[in-house]
Amino acid sequence: MDKKNAWEKYPQGAKRNKVYKFAEEYRQFISACKTERECTGALYEKAIEAGYKDLDKLIEKKASVKAGDKIIANNMGKGLALFVVGKKSMEKGMNILGAHIDSPRLDLKQVPLYEDTEMAMLDTHYYGGVKKYQWVTLPLALHGVICKKDGTTVTVNIGDKPEDPVFGVSDLLIHLSGDQMEKKAAKVIEGESLDLLIGSIPAPEEEDEKKAVKDRVKANILTILSEEYGVEEDDFLSAEIEVVPAGEARDYGLDRSMIMGYGHDDRVCAYPSFMAMLEMKKPEYTSVCLLVDKEEIGSVGASGMESRFFENCVAEVMNLAGEYSELAVRRALKNSKVLSSDVSAAFDPNYPSVMEKRNAAYFGKGLVFNKYTGSRGKAGSNDANAEYMAKLRRIMDDADVSFQTAELGKVDQGGGGTIAYILANYDMNVIDSGVAVLNMHAPWEIISKVDLYEAFLGYVAFLKEA
Ligand code: MN
Ligand code: MN
Repeated sequence: MDKKNAWEKYPQGAKRNKVYKFAEEYRQFISACKTERECTGALYEKAIEAGYKDLDKLIEKKASVKAGDKIIANNMGKGLALFVVGKKSMEKGMNILGAHIDSPRLDLKQVPLYEDTEMAMLDTHYYGGVKKYQWVTLPLALHGVICKKDGTTVTVNIGDKPEDPVFGVSDLLIHLSGDQMEKKAAKVIEGESLDLLIGSIPAPEEEDEKKAVKDRVKANILTILSEEYGVEEDDFLSAEIEVVPAGEARDYGLDRSMIMGYGHDDRVCAYPSFMAMLEMKKPEYTSVCLLVDKEEIGSVGASGMESRFFENCVAEVMNLAGEYSELAVRRALKNSKVLSSDVSAAFDPNYPSVMEKRNAAYFGKGLVFNKYTGSRGKAGSNDANAEYMAKLRRIMDDADVSFQTAELGKVDQGGGGTIAYILANYDMNVIDSGVAVLNMHAPWEIISKVDLYEAFLGYVAFLKEA
């Protein structure tokens, strides 16, 4: 059971450089794409460049598709489904890579802007599971869209270019923290206190008393918003603006073996899944990559895994392939195999007590398979079949992919869930897999470059051989 460190497969030189190069492209990707919309936009474009055709356009043209054809479907700009049509009929099943592209963050409320003591503030509501105390005194950026009544959309991206201003949530000075330091960690920073400071200059006073406004700092911010973005206060009602850590992902460690970045969960699985699709020419079974939104809040909504989006796409693709019937769609889903990829908790020498060492994930030991997740006696878990796990062991060993098995912490220590159980509802073979992460759900998470690379190799092997 003693697994070799995957770095040992890549000695200094050309082999190790391949690992570093893949990681560097990933580092640039996550530095540029911090939200589900940004990931969807960038990967959609990359897929079209690689020869993928938009599903809606194919439907419109009543096109027919055949083995080797590449198809992409965009779910409201927040999720993607990619297909490479296989040689076998789709009814025989698909090989599916699933991952999510939303990450924990703070979202602006619908009525966010207010002034207090001549400071302009933006009110937020956090998204996903966060330790709120981790989000204070950090440089933060605003990413998102403001949709206007006239049908136009203004893209917001402030805080990540070197010349941009940044924003932040303040914390109490230690000198006045006597009461705060006595509180439980969950209460040290309250959800309602996660408001962003965005300005402090008052607008010039109006001579005309009738035009005089009460909150002149807020008024000044509104003038900037109007002049620079053409939006007014009411436009926040139809905006989705996400507050995320500002700045690029960085190489981590003297040996540059790791990357620290925002939102490895779950772009560290989404990116290699997408890249594996680009390797597929004419597979035996249809290859699929599903990148979904809303996992961090329970996979709900039209862009989450619970949505009918994927099922509808399968029906449409089968129709274009001349294979559609309701029964055929059901069989295609039932006969499929899935790697439901999400991050695993990496063993942390600072916190050994929450892990059980034989069944923990480690940096450098490759792609992680979690036969089950869940909590309190595996509750809520998709417990993958032993037969399926055996097949995956064979595929990974044949392709010399480093892999490890793990569960999320000690029994009864906590737990978590993924999108796996939702796909398993179609009676498919599904297993949780992914990449180990340190600092999971913190503003800056850490992954190992070699684990990212092994995940990529593992996904390619799965699509080709499963
Ligand atoms: Mn995740
Ligand atoms: Mn997560």
